[in-house]
Amino acid sequence: RMVRLRDRLSRSGSIGRGVLGLLSRDVVDEDTWDEIEETLLLADLGPGPTDELMENLRRRMQVLGGSDPSAVREVLREELVALVDPAMDRRLAATSQIAEDGTVVPSAILMVGVNGTGKTTTVGKLARVLVAEGRTVVLGAADTFRAAAADQLATWGSRVGVRTVRSDKDGADPAAVAFDAVKEGIAEGVDVVIIDTAGRLQNKKGLMDELGKVRRVTEKALHGVGVHEVLLVLDATTGQNGMQQARVFSEAVNVTGLVLTKLDGTAKGGIVVNVQRELGVPVKMVGLGEGMDDLAPFDAHGFVDALLG
Ligand code: GDP
Repeated sequence: RMVRLRDRLSRSGSIGRGVLGLLSRDVVDEDTWDEIEETLLLADLGPGPTDELMENLRRRMQVLGGSDPSAVREVLREELVALVDPAMDRRLAATSQIAEDGTVVPSAILMVGVNGTGKTTTVGKLARVLVAEGRTVVLGAADTFRAAAADQLATWGSRVGVRTVRSDKDGADPAAVAFDAVKEGIAEGVDVVIIDTAGRLQNKKGLMDELGKVRRVTEKALHGVGVHEVLLVLDATTGQNGMQQARVFSEAVNVTGLVLTKLDGTAKGGIVVNVQRELGVPVKMVGLGEGMDDLAPFDAHGFVDALLG
């Protein structure tokens, strides 16, 4: 059945026709059920969660003994919200803290993800959010692999008015840059240090070694205080690939939260539902554009409405 559906999907190209439109019809028939399933798959919810959701939906509708479209819509919304799990703690409280030796150190946030997903942009936008909340921030340009990455981050730094720590030379040790950024953060007495990292998936071993080292060295610079957050950036437009990326990164470093970027386009980003479940960590923020104010806290109900609409 799924095979047939997926085959239809690849031909139909019906992206953008929401479930709510389908359910404004008078009757819910077999075709409608198929189309609901199709829409969920097009929203990148993934075959597993889609199957599960459709089963629950059909079962609950059977119990209710009817197939009134508005009832189906409500139950569908409820099931989706439950999948997204609104009870997860999505706060990002980042303030300075005291190490065991008495040193006041910032909270450190590591931004990880495949290149192109929007990591550097998200670091800039997050700094903006924190500054607007009255916190002080230093950025660390530990993506030393791409020559332009540090420039791009420094540009964000000046846009939002925070200092960027970077290396003078290309190809410097990312962990050394992270170390320097934390040192600078301690010297300035800031609340948060956000560290941008490189994300080359081609070399999985290299990536794991690099991120592991960045993390260890960051914690050393923090006088033994653990990294506060490791945020994995996922691009909504890459669909099911996000799952594979999430697996690789969670193996490399202990991911504590997700950021879903590029939700301003046609992509619905349903993949994060599965990633949340598999990794057991919440989506904390969403990227809604390329501008500095285009980062928003993740809202489960809003996400579900957009997914269905
Ligand atoms: P990185 O390689 O992961 O650091 O990715 P970048 O931060 O350089 O972003 C890659 C591209 O995606 C850039 O052109 C960004 O402007 C764009 N981008 C990042 N986040 C968003 C978003 O939320 N929405 C849109 N439309 N574009 C984004």
